[in-house]
Amino acid sequence: MRILVLEDSKLLKELFKARLEREGHEVTVVDNGHQGFILATSYPYDVVVSDVQMPHWDGFKFIDAMQVVCPRIPIIIVTSLSVDPEIMAKVARFTNVIELLAKPLDFKKFFSLLENLTVQTHDNVNKKARIVCTLGPASNNREVIGKMVLAGMDVARLNFSHGTYKEHEATLNAVRDAEREWGKPIAVLQDLCGPKIRTGTMKDGEVELEEGRQIIIQAEPIEGNFERISCAIPQILQDLRKGDPVLLDDGLLELRVAEEGECDVVCDVIVGGILKSNKGMNLPATTLSLPSVTEKDWRDLDWALDHSVDYVALSFVRSAEEVIAVKKYISNAGKQDLRLVAKIEKPEAVKNIHEIIEVSDAIMIARGDMGVELPAARVPRIQQEIIRLCWRMNTPVITATQMLDSMTTHSRPTRAEVTDVSMAIREGTDAVMLSQETATGVDPVNVIRTMASIIWEEEQYTDLSGEQYKQLKDDAAENPVITAVAGLSDTAAVILLDLEGNLFPLVSKWNRKIPSLLVTGSELIARRASLYYNIVPLIIREDYCHEEIIQKAMSIALEWGYIKEGDAIAVVEGMRETRNNLLQISALQILKVPLS
Ligand code: PGA
Ligand code: MN
Repeated sequence: MRILVLEDSKLLKELFKARLEREGHEVTVVDNGHQGFILATSYPYDVVVSDVQMPHWDGFKFIDAMQVVCPRIPIIIVTSLSVDPEIMAKVARFTNVIELLAKPLDFKKFFSLLENLTVQTHDNVNKKARIVCTLGPASNNREVIGKMVLAGMDVARLNFSHGTYKEHEATLNAVRDAEREWGKPIAVLQDLCGPKIRTGTMKDGEVELEEGRQIIIQAEPIEGNFERISCAIPQILQDLRKGDPVLLDDGLLELRVAEEGECDVVCDVIVGGILKSNKGMNLPATTLSLPSVTEKDWRDLDWALDHSVDYVALSFVRSAEEVIAVKKYISNAGKQDLRLVAKIEKPEAVKNIHEIIEVSDAIMIARGDMGVELPAARVPRIQQEIIRLCWRMNTPVITATQMLDSMTTHSRPTRAEVTDVSMAIREGTDAVMLSQETATGVDPVNVIRTMASIIWEEEQYTDLSGEQYKQLKDDAAENPVITAVAGLSDTAAVILLDLEGNLFPLVSKWNRKIPSLLVTGSELIARRASLYYNIVPLIIREDYCHEEIIQKAMSIALEWGYIKEGDAIAVVEGMRETRNNLLQISALQILKVPLS
């Protein structure tokens, strides 16, 4: 059996290893709960043996985390605590604990326990790509968010199409609490709703539009019926031209403009069906005079400026100018740390993609509206092109919408969904997003776990292509150390000393294989870095000297289980003035982790 033992006493560690190996088991022994968690989520162990009194994540914190992420791995507690009713009650909460044994361990009893154990299937979830999760009624509470963080959420998305400021504030606070509890920085992304056009309400909640008939869209609000419906943003009516398609409810229904008009627009029903209240309306062929950033968006953005938000996403972006205007507003407000994500979902944005990537801090491929605004059949290729372009232009990219859609109501994804997530990883996306799956779905934590295991599996095979390596020269001009980073193979991890946060985006781009541990003193940089592929932020606040920082980072990396004694690790750093006043441009050092 593959056995993971968590035990911090040196003597017992050796005893465990010797006795278990003698019986033919494969044994890994670690010091603390955090190490145990990283290993148990990365490798397929059949059983975990855990002490409960340990430094850095005691046994209960570890068992709690395991129950969330790998609930099927059985845990045997071995403890020197007296097994009293209080501890029994504590253990009873954990369905993954199969036995509690006292120290000194009765090995005979222990081995007979192992003999009767059924080996479970195990999903690895310690992935490198990032998961953006939308929070909503199913997940906007402290408890679920904590579990989501453990299961692999890196970025929390607050969807400003719904909810009040009060609700968003409570959710944001819950994210910050969970981040503190589990010691993992989380980026918060505010998603502005943009000029999302919706129909008005319908009489009795829904009306039937019949193919071949006509229907009027009117400016004046009305309870919709089979003859007339209204629209939440009446200004758009004047932009509609004869022959323009009007798509309703994600394109399920289609109208076509027959007669233009400022107050009344007459449309032919091309594809009919049931239309419910407040459904989305897409006008793919119409040039809208509406601004991409609405009054509500500006107000919502002001909210973000006052709260600890790391990214703001602009919906329905059409041009680079719109992105620049919002960035200017943010920088005038003195909030340089709030970064901007452009959501690509309009035909104009696809056309202007190059200019938009140039001025944005990150890109979201918003496949939901994109598949209505453009023929859905074109979405896969557009996705691939945008991912490629973002790579080339050093901009992180999120692939979004419907990735595990069926898991909103089911406990397992469809095979097509699994392939979709896998393909996005293969194409090189930095992050994948969950929308209603985690906002309103039946089991947000299960969705994240599932997504993480699909990512993990695909990441065992993906590598940079020859085409990608051709670009190395350009990035090396920016910082020559990148050439060395791209060539690393036999080191266990990169420790990246990047206190100002200038170098991590390039390291994320070129080191897709071994974990990059970003050492920074800034919580804001750590959170921002949480959107970047394969960056593990370590916050080291104290004012250490250069050598001390390396040592401290190494000891945290050890404690967290990213490296082990005797490993070779790469220490990468950028520009700094050395002790003898020379300007160091960059440096790579290969160190051996000392044996204790
Ligand atoms: P939305 O954006 O969920 O805010 O509409 C994503 C998309 O359109 O895919
Ligand atoms: Mn959208």
